[in-house]
Parts: sequence; C-alpha cells; structure tokens
Amino acid sequence: MGDHRGHIAVLQDDGHLTGAAVAALHAVSGVDTALLRAAKVRPSSANWLHAPWYPYRRGGALTIGRTIWFTGIWFSKHGLGDGSPSSTLRWLLHLAHEVGHLAQAERFGPSLWGKTRYVAAFAWQYATRALLRRRPIHDGSPLEREADAGRRVLRAVVGDQQERHPLVAAVHGHAAPVVERWCVQHRQYLAEIAGRVQAGNLA
Ligand SMILES: [Zn+2]
Repeated sequence: MGDHRGHIAVLQDDGHLTGAAVAALHAVSGVDTALLRAAKVRPSSANWLHAPWYPYRRGGALTIGRTIWFTGIWFSKHGLGDGSPSSTLRWLLHLAHEVGHLAQAERFGPSLWGKTRYVAAFAWQYATRALLRRRPIHDGSPLEREADAGRRVLRAVVGDQQERHPLVAAVHGHAAPVVERWCVQHRQYLAEIAGRVQAGNLA
C-alpha cells in the first residue's frame, strides 16, 4: 500500500518514519531513535480501529507493538493527508503521542505475556477511573498521560508559529540535518519544556 504514502512528508514509501521525523520525534518525546526507526506506520480501516476489545485508541490512531495504525482519512489527499505543511504538523503531533506507546510496549516486553500485561494495565486504569467517575477516562489514565508528553512538548515548541515553525518546516522538507541541528541548538530549551510537562504529569 506504499502508493498512498508518498505524499505524507513524515513517512517513507515503506511506512517507516523519515530520518527528519525520527530526529524531531526523538527530540520532543525522548523515545529511542532505534525504536523510532524500527516503527512502521500502516493504514487501517476505521472499523478495525474501533474494535471494542482494545481499550486504547485515540483520534484515529492505535499503536500495537512496533506498528502504528492510522485510519484511512490520515492518508487522504483530500483530507488530513493533503501533503501540506499543516498536514505534516498534524501528523507530527499525532505521532508524538503514539510513539510514547511504542516505548511503553517495549517496557512491558515483546512477548505475549508482556503484551497481555500491557493491555491489562490499560484496562485496569480505565476501569478504576470509570469506577471513581474521573473524566475523561481515556486521556486521564497514567499510561495515556505519559504517552502524551511528547505531543505536549511539540505543541509548546511550535506555539503560534504552527506549521511555519522551522522544526516543522524542516521535517516537511525532509531536511534531517536541519532538524538535527535545530534539536542540538535547542537542547536546553527542549529539556526545560519536557521538565514542565513532566512536572504537570506528576502533579
Ligand atoms: Zn494513546
């Protein structure tokens, strides 16, 4: 299905993230670059994504093991995947959340037992939040909040500049060296934002 990935700036034709996307996502999420390089993005049908047996799904994407599934609309040339710089920003923000789940899945381990414990941990968190009537149930679970840190860092970084931000523009232009240079130059700044997000998560 590589034919409908060519226009998504963050993806290579085979569904792997581009070098520029890997560098940017690593900088905002802290997820290991080797893991980001190993990850694969694949299209899925909306029906499949809304499978009720799977407790975590969010905004049309779902991460299982090292595969990140995005619903078809994300690839649509007339929709979220229109190839524009703002489409690149939307993809980056969504990926910045999903790659947090890649790291969590690694932590629980790739075995069937690890996967089962991971899903069980989500189910337990949703169930307890439902019992305590805390809202929102999905976004409030500790694993979701942890996974969302990368997106919140990226959102803070781009600020009002949105898709015009140099980091996003460099990812859009497949300019990995430019992304890497920006991240090195803004290392301290990124660490400060990540620290604030982390403090908010622990509060
Ligand atoms: Zn999530």
